[in-house]
Amino acid sequence: MSLLFNDFKSWKSHCDAEQLPLYQPVVKYEIEQRGGNEKEIWEGLLRAYRVMKEAVQTGLEEEMSTKSGMIENAGKKVYQHPTPVLSDTFQKLVARALAAKEVNSCMGRVVAAPTAGASGILPGTLVTLQEIHHFEDKKILECLLVAAGIALIIEQNASLAGAVGGCQAETGSAAAMAAGAIVYALEGSVDQVFNAVGITIQCMLGLVCDPVAGLVEVPCIVRNASASAIAYSSAQMAIANVSGIIPVDECVQALGEVGQSLEDRYKETALGGLAATATGKKIAEKILIKDIDILPD
Ligand code: SF4
Repeated sequence: MSLLFNDFKSWKSHCDAEQLPLYQPVVKYEIEQRGGNEKEIWEGLLRAYRVMKEAVQTGLEEEMSTKSGMIENAGKKVYQHPTPVLSDTFQKLVARALAAKEVNSCMGRVVAAPTAGASGILPGTLVTLQEIHHFEDKKILECLLVAAGIALIIEQNASLAGAVGGCQAETGSAAAMAAGAIVYALEGSVDQVFNAVGITIQCMLGLVCDPVAGLVEVPCIVRNASASAIAYSSAQMAIANVSGIIPVDECVQALGEVGQSLEDRYKETALGGLAATATGKKIAEKILIKDIDILPD
């Protein structure tokens, strides 16, 4: 069964041959990997979705700030601002992704989907999707399974970790998972779902991992918001049959190839990119001094 998640082509052929919805083989895979039964899988998914919704709520309602001074209630600021730049829905999407990610930076409870660094993207996109289209929870849980299948294939052929493949592997994969899930929920065809994944990877390709002071705060927070927006734009294009031209499996290969070629300073080492700017270095120095100050004698 796990061979099924070697690539998108195999996943599609299996579903076509067996007349299965995309999420069904993922349920089977989960049972094979973890044991238990289907009921337990659905219960686990519901728990995960609840944690995602709570993270969004917590981030929008509670104080979200970190010792570094880099996190300061970004989700709430966006949510409450009187000027929507596009629409109320877009404003909420951005605010929710920021809010859930801030909960992670403030050491709160999140679902790593696929990683903690990208933990605002699926909550932001799925909570917004459910609100717009009034989906039952069951549909969102199916979305989570589809997203998990997408992540399995990316992990197999590229990477999901910033330390291995740059931020394209982390927020890029989360955005791809979200885009595919959105198109699935809107009853797009399998080709449209996978095209949404491919388009998203194309949009996120090359993004480096460069967290300031080595903390998963800046630019991580804002990238969760922008990745959520890209997930929606990719889904919109895919559902309108705008082709990404490069097949999704080849996009994943490109993700892996670019990830491998990135220098180490762009892989969570905080030695390059934004972390290596004058301001980034100053913040890192300040944090180090603070940490030394609180060390016991
Ligand atoms: S910059 Fe690095 S640590 Fe931050 S979200 Fe991206 S991959 Fe994760």
